[in-house]
Amino acid sequence: MIKYFVKAVLAATICFSSSAFAAETEAPPIKQTLFKNVMVFDGSNDKLYKAEVLVKGNMIDQVSTKSITVSDSKNTTVIDGAGRTLMPGIIEAHNHLMFPVPNVAWFNTHDMTYIAAAAGEETRRFLMRGWTTVRDIGGPSMGLQRAIEDGRTIGPRIYSSSAVIGQTSGHGDMRDYVDPHPNMIEYTHPFFDEFSFIADGPAEVQRAVREALRRGAVQIKVMAGGGVSSKFDPIYSVQYSPEEFRAATEAAADYGTYVAVHAYTDESIVRAIENGVKVIEHGQLMSEETAKLMVEKEIWLSTQAQVLNLSAEALSFLTPDQMTKWRLIKDGLDNQMKLAKKYNLKLPFGTDIFGSTANFESTVKEFSARLPWFTSAEILKQATSINGEFLALTGVRNPYPDGPLGVIKKGAYADLLIVEGNPLKDITILEDYAKNMKIIMKDGVIYKNDL
Ligand SMILES: [Zn+2]
Repeated sequence: MIKYFVKAVLAATICFSSSAFAAETEAPPIKQTLFKNVMVFDGSNDKLYKAEVLVKGNMIDQVSTKSITVSDSKNTTVIDGAGRTLMPGIIEAHNHLMFPVPNVAWFNTHDMTYIAAAAGEETRRFLMRGWTTVRDIGGPSMGLQRAIEDGRTIGPRIYSSSAVIGQTSGHGDMRDYVDPHPNMIEYTHPFFDEFSFIADGPAEVQRAVREALRRGAVQIKVMAGGGVSSKFDPIYSVQYSPEEFRAATEAAADYGTYVAVHAYTDESIVRAIENGVKVIEHGQLMSEETAKLMVEKEIWLSTQAQVLNLSAEALSFLTPDQMTKWRLIKDGLDNQMKLAKKYNLKLPFGTDIFGSTANFESTVKEFSARLPWFTSAEILKQATSINGEFLALTGVRNPYPDGPLGVIKKGAYADLLIVEGNPLKDITILEDYAKNMKIIMKDGVIYKNDL
């Protein structure tokens, strides 16, 4: 709208002829899509219901159990769902789009044009699986988000974190044994310039957070404890002091957003929460006491299951030491999910699966990986309305602030899928996306139509 107003003003200023003014002010008609004959899963309701949904531009304009009459039928595409399910697009809460390579060593032999080209293709594939938003929790995906918004390439909405922030010898410190420290001698490597900031002490942490925000991060990712894929930090290591955490959480809060931390153990999780962190990523080794603390402080538990079911082939890049760490985390998963269920923790749906194309494609298995603990209906809500609420934690930095995501209601973004079958009853139908996903719409635009 603003664009046309500016055009009109320009036209009026430059050319005083009234006919030119009139021609310039006529905005093109808004395209509409009317979904008829669909059973709606709205993101939160436990049952499907028959309704019609009208999309105007990129937003949902009407949801009605009665038939909708459109005023501008010339600009309206009518889609007859023939009784299939209409649901919100799937949201991924934890991925790393800029890691289309199996491990950090690849960054020594593949330059940023390779990484960006491969990441662009994987991002397109995400959308074509019906995943319409990805929360990118570490890596320089701001440019990718921008290229998608500019229409240069296609993909989901992206909530980028920019580089992760971690301490020397922490989980973000992916150097090999002989590599120099990027801050101690003059040393540049794209990984430490773009993907991971090594920062020690409150002042460096503050600067790192502010730099990530300057680059366009909408939430901040900090490494708070040992990790699997880094080489020199045991899982039990607690990373960052209370002062360093506060430097991070205060710098993020000053820009209206929050800090999420990578952490597995009670010590790491509790220290992070006590110093203002709002989201725990992973957390598989948490205890019942910690679950209670999370309820009390309204902390989000952004955990993943399928990544712990990966095949030996998918994990072949891990050293024996790293495999030992991976198994330790895997052993904690069952207890964690039982606690999440018992305490009704705020549990988004995410995968943390990236690297090869086959790995990215296996993100869809996260649906069935959660079935030992949750019903199809519960998992479906995690992947839609719960994730939508989770993304809104970005507050004033929310890159998509005009309406909610993950729900079907008036005023929500038009990210919609038509699927064969009822995912509330059987979530696994979303895994066979090629067959069961008939329509994929993002931001009011249809990217796949198999009807
Ligand atoms: Zn991750």
